[in-house]
Amino acid sequence: MVKNKVYVLDSSGIIGGFFSKKFANFTTSQVINEIKDLKSEIFLQSALENGHITIKEPAPQDSKQVKRVITESGDILRLSDVDKQVIALALTIKRDGMDPIVVTDDYSIQNVLKIIGISYRSVLTKGIENIVGWIKICKGCKKKYPSNNSLTECEICGSPIYRKRIKKIE
Ligand SMILES: [Zn+2]
Repeated sequence: MVKNKVYVLDSSGIIGGFFSKKFANFTTSQVINEIKDLKSEIFLQSALENGHITIKEPAPQDSKQVKRVITESGDILRLSDVDKQVIALALTIKRDGMDPIVVTDDYSIQNVLKIIGISYRSVLTKGIENIVGWIKICKGCKKKYPSNNSLTECEICGSPIYRKRIKKIE
């Protein structure tokens, strides 16, 4: 089964004017409250009215899981409540059977997403690479892809590709 790709936007995504026209875009109410500049507010208002961006809140169990992960990884001190909500929303969406990609320029958020195996992309800056080693593997034929490969389906057999953590090669 091929999953539906959806984007999860944090405030840097919205301020950067990012949303996908092809796939659904989600954000949380706390992110909306964080948007203060007029240009971003106008962009956001029209995206909400046109149904390009949908507001969704994370499930409580996913907020709890995020708290566990960031306590262990040490990212807890660098993440705001809004950041945690965005990460938890991505987990909720994944549990709903979709394939979330978080749009964020925040390196701490990106690091936590790497740990929990959720994809992300940057709006303005280039994302961090290789904090942990990752590889992508096809669920069907087990073909390996580099971790920065953007394919979500295998080019050989069409099965979903998943990310696997590997020991980093120095
Ligand atoms: Zn394959």
